[in-house]
Amino acid sequence: MSGSWKRSEHFIDGDWYTPAAGELLAIENPATGESIGTAARGGREEVDLAVEAATRAWPGWSATSPAQRAEALGALRDALGARSKELVDLTVAELGVPVTFAENVHVPLALGDLDAFTRDVRDFPFEERIGNSLVLKESAGVAGCVTPWNYPLHQMAAKVGAALAAGCTVVLKPAELTPLAAYALAEAACDAGLPPGVFNVVFGSGRVVGDALTRSPGVDVVSFTGSTAVGTSVAEVAAGDVRRCLLELGGKSASVALPDADFEAATRWTVRSATVNSGQTCSACTRLIVPRSNHADVVAYAGELAAGLRVGDPLDATTDLGPVVSARQRETILGFVERAVANGARVEPAGTGDLPDRGHYVRPAVVSGTHPFSEIAQEEVFGPVLVVLAYDDEDEAAAIANSTRYGLSGAVWSADAGRATTFARRLRTGQVDVNGGQWNFSAPFGGYKQSGTGRELGPHGIADFCEIKSIQL
Ligand code: NDP
Repeated sequence: MSGSWKRSEHFIDGDWYTPAAGELLAIENPATGESIGTAARGGREEVDLAVEAATRAWPGWSATSPAQRAEALGALRDALGARSKELVDLTVAELGVPVTFAENVHVPLALGDLDAFTRDVRDFPFEERIGNSLVLKESAGVAGCVTPWNYPLHQMAAKVGAALAAGCTVVLKPAELTPLAAYALAEAACDAGLPPGVFNVVFGSGRVVGDALTRSPGVDVVSFTGSTAVGTSVAEVAAGDVRRCLLELGGKSASVALPDADFEAATRWTVRSATVNSGQTCSACTRLIVPRSNHADVVAYAGELAAGLRVGDPLDATTDLGPVVSARQRETILGFVERAVANGARVEPAGTGDLPDRGHYVRPAVVSGTHPFSEIAQEEVFGPVLVVLAYDDEDEAAAIANSTRYGLSGAVWSADAGRATTFARRLRTGQVDVNGGQWNFSAPFGGYKQSGTGRELGPHGIADFCEIKSIQL
């Protein structure tokens, strides 16, 4: 790992652009708290330049055929794939995830997203006949994309891949905490030969650059992933101009074990779901809902599994959990757990194992003895914290699962997959895994309720970057 990245430029109109008097952002390694380099910190001026470049590039890019865009996306994927080693290094350095998780999940997820868009755009129904009408799905225009820090590469690939596939040109604003992945994506776009202006990146804070981008009159569609609080304000701004706005927000997803489930398998899967990436996963199942008669055993087993997770140096191949992304995130997580304990909840394992003496480390926690409507059971903690809740019958299990303001993801466990699927239909949530069902890169991903609007990935993700026109013949 190089250990130091010194960047000061934005990527605008196919070229690197360093403002004459640009500020720099220090990038911190969450595992040590030390600075590992710099990134550019732009303002409204860079946003305007990037949106103008994307606007100029749009007529040409939107006129390309799906096959040409598939070729370009394939080239982008290959250029990114050629950087896999570097991508692992920078993801570990800026996010603090274990090297094995960066290798096995972060990088393959982003490459898989682009692979899927490359396939899906070829078969996408850009035109269909409905009776006497020719119905067209046309590129919506310039896309302003704002991404979070938790899966930096994947979040960017999911938005940028879909937008480019639809024929949109893109201005991306990556999270300030994890800008290095966006530099790598821009370098890959150069190598892939994307035409100037088709893909642009402006680095900087959400408050300045994110706000300017989502307000820019030149942006036709805003795609935002992050907290529900910021997403709400982005949606309000977009509503003022009746601008298309796609939101991927928080979650408090439930994993429900029906009475005939394999409780050990359900518990193992759910502990992993709640704790990987140090619990910083929007679709994590952070509530495990089990029959009352199994509750005590499940809590004990989940506590045992959590105690066995190795928290420490991300560069050690045996580490399960690295630090969380920032000191602020750590304080937020610990605050949730402390308030739960103060309100009578139990936490296991109880403070076992040493943590490194620097960096933003948090022990995984399994919380029980709390009400389904308590804060810890309702709010997104975004840390390695699992709440185990009890139900008396399936109606109550569904009611508890659906009781939060979120509806992003979920899981159901049963010896009978048909029974689990019937139960899955009752969940007010955008995706459900039955008995640990496999990730599907072409399946729509997104939320009900306050988890968002619109869908990412696959054909549904492409469709959200399109306008629809019907021509009556
Ligand atoms: P934010 O919602 O603050 O940030 C997400 C993105 O939005 C970042 O790029 C951020 O920029 C940008 N942003 C911030 N303010 C604005 C604004 N006014 N206009 C436009 N863009 C803006 O999330 P955080 O990173 O602070 O995380 C806080 C919480 O959000 C987490 O604890 C978690 O609950 C949730 N979250 C959910 C995610 C999900 O995938 N659903 C992902 C990440 C977080 P910058 O960071 O540079 O300021």
